[in-house]
Amino acid sequence: PAAAAAATEEPIQPAVEIKYIQLLINGNFVDAASGKTFPTMDPRTGEVIARVAEGDSEDIDRAVAAARRAFDEGPWPRMTAYVRTPSTAPHIGTAHAGGSRSRHGHRGLVSLQERCRVLLRFADLIEQHADEIAALETWDNGKTLAQSARAEVPMLARCMRYYAGWADKIHGLVVPADGAHHAQVLHEPVGVAGQIIPWNFPLLMFAWKVGPALACGNTVVLKTAEQTPLSALYVASLLHEAGLPDGVLNVVSGFGPTAGAALCSHMGVDKLAFTGSTGTGQIVLELAARSNLKPVTLELGGKSPFIVMDDADVDQAVELAHHAVFFNQGQCCCAGSRTFVHERVYDEFVEKSKARAMKRVVGDPFRNGVEQGPQIDEEQFKKILRYVQSGVDSGATLLAGGDRAGNRGFYIQPTDDMKIAREEIFGPVQTILKFSGVEEVIRRANASQYGLAAGVFTRSLDAANTLSRALRVGTVWVNCYDVFDAGIPFGGYKMSGVGREKGVYALRNYLQTKAVVTPIRDAAW
Ligand code: ADP
Repeated sequence: PAAAAAATEEPIQPAVEIKYIQLLINGNFVDAASGKTFPTMDPRTGEVIARVAEGDSEDIDRAVAAARRAFDEGPWPRMTAYVRTPSTAPHIGTAHAGGSRSRHGHRGLVSLQERCRVLLRFADLIEQHADEIAALETWDNGKTLAQSARAEVPMLARCMRYYAGWADKIHGLVVPADGAHHAQVLHEPVGVAGQIIPWNFPLLMFAWKVGPALACGNTVVLKTAEQTPLSALYVASLLHEAGLPDGVLNVVSGFGPTAGAALCSHMGVDKLAFTGSTGTGQIVLELAARSNLKPVTLELGGKSPFIVMDDADVDQAVELAHHAVFFNQGQCCCAGSRTFVHERVYDEFVEKSKARAMKRVVGDPFRNGVEQGPQIDEEQFKKILRYVQSGVDSGATLLAGGDRAGNRGFYIQPTDDMKIAREEIFGPVQTILKFSGVEEVIRRANASQYGLAAGVFTRSLDAANTLSRALRVGTVWVNCYDVFDAGIPFGGYKMSGVGREKGVYALRNYLQTKAVVTPIRDAAW
């Protein structure tokens, strides 16, 4: 009832103006070639926030051509430490009224240090505009303003500074080769990177994709999710203000099967990075293979176990398990959505989890104290409620929630149930399962097509070490969850993905390896 009341209040007007609704190609905000637009919705009400230019294959062609030119003609990928023509050196551009910008020059070579400084200036600008960015993110996505402001905007800035630090520290090797040969290994940027991101963390996904790609000297065409096009356009304009040369980052809003597929199939794209559902990841990989065999990194779905051992402090375990699954309205690829609880603490855990879920404050994400906003859109909203119903139909016990909250927008009551769940629900639905031993929980936790993440809650070092090594997942959080610093690699085993994002590992995705071998004449050594 509290949830229902909160969700029916008049929506709070966000304190931000929508400035950028066009495609960003070659440093300019432009309309789609077709002239088409599509609406982006406020998930609190289902009403249109703005109509955004709808990119399709012709726009992808234009964006790839711009990225190719920016790569081939520089200065971005070059590493020469001087500016050949000072008058055309990168400068801080100014945005024109109406969101259009046009800047000139950037043909001269820039120093490697400048690449680093552009990314650092970008991080500063993110902090200066933090309030507007956070408001835009909450408006378009429905996540709480506290989360946007305290987690996502700072993490975006942090990620950019992390990769700015790498820009001048990427280097190859000299390897000892048998015979009289000098063998160098050069690490070079791959070229034009195509990047496709989802709607659940629009800013973080921007950071994880664009940060390493730019630090390594690549140029980028980014296809944002059709549900959340606004924040990427805004921050991309700041990146140009920070001095990014034209064409280095191009942002195309649009749909998956049109703009997204065109990017995956493009013969001029040298590398693809995708985050989204496992099914779409399979399509992306196939399109890449059938076109030009561009290498692909994938960050896909999950059904992550959160394991509570019998020595755990139950109150703390309940709270952490609750956040592991309900964070971001449950819309996390790494949501701890299978909560495994040892039989000795199971009853107490279930009782307390139910009470915690019922206390969860659902409502307008702009309101202070709200923990959960609406789901992203009607499609997800309906899908989640269908999953809950199918759980009930197959004999699960519904402990809390299970229905919509309020009477408009896409709000769902926090839901607890007891069902053996295999598929990714991507919503605020916790499934609590009982186990009786370590071997058993390892077997059951690993019995999944996914392998993205896991949580382990225990005071026992032995249990923590055993589980950490036995779980077939890309991240194990022990007595914590959802810790995402820029330096920590993230990615999946099995059908949760290919490759790693963040940290030094993400650099590998954006570098080519070139061996250069020269003979050593008259070598005495
Ligand atoms: P979700 O179910 O979370 O929306 P998707 O995998 O469908 O996940 O979407 C993630 C991203 O992939 C979005 O930017 C979407 O537009 C894009 N996408 C969807 N279908 C395709 C496709 N056939 N080819 C390329 N990109 C796609």
